[in-house]
Amino acid sequence: MRDAMEKAWSELVATARRSVTDGLVVGTSGNVSVRVGDLVLVTPTGVPYDRLGPVDAVAVDLDGRQVSGRLRPTSELPMHLAVYRGTGARAIVHTHAVHATAVSTLVDELPAIHYMAAAMGGRIRVAGYAPYGTDELAAQVLLALRDRSACLMRNHGTLVYGATLDQAYDRTAQLEWMCQVWLTARSVPGLTPALLSDAELDDAGGRLRGYGQPG
Ligand code: 13P
Ligand code: ZN
Repeated sequence: MRDAMEKAWSELVATARRSVTDGLVVGTSGNVSVRVGDLVLVTPTGVPYDRLGPVDAVAVDLDGRQVSGRLRPTSELPMHLAVYRGTGARAIVHTHAVHATAVSTLVDELPAIHYMAAAMGGRIRVAGYAPYGTDELAAQVLLALRDRSACLMRNHGTLVYGATLDQAYDRTAQLEWMCQVWLTARSVPGLTPALLSDAELDDAGGRLRGYGQPG
């Protein structure tokens, strides 16, 4: 268990750092978590990710009780725990990615601009606004995640989960990319982007289940 926790913590810190170097997050915005058995490792609140070392691991149980670490957990702990309780998530990435955040202020759902939406369950919804760190925000996010592994958060950012940190991170990057594509396409004067139908998205979803190398 100790080894599993140490390995998961180093993967979590690497994921959080990557979100900054890839430009999905600025400073200490955003947060990352991963399940290890019945516990959840989370980034601490307000600490730059390049300062996190092996001794800084923060672990909580599913009721939010801190079981190890001396740093305070992320302020978005209620949201992370609600997603673990309400979905099959094993890892969660929350960012303030610029295009995704811009889209969250414009529409209630990201229009189906690309088939990669199907990799996240279909059209990506925008969760209603609530102050950061609140149970109300957690509830809004959980609503927007119904049958989806990703959502936008109004005037705030993205929440994406996966079976692993790599999957949650990759989906986050794809979501940000789709938001950039939609904003780019819709900004061409006099033209309107073509969108995919439900049937086209469903078809893409089926194909994506067989995407990649076997095994
Ligand atoms: P934390 O530093 O508490 O994780 O907060 C960042 C954030 O994105 C709040 O929504
Ligand atoms: Zn945030």
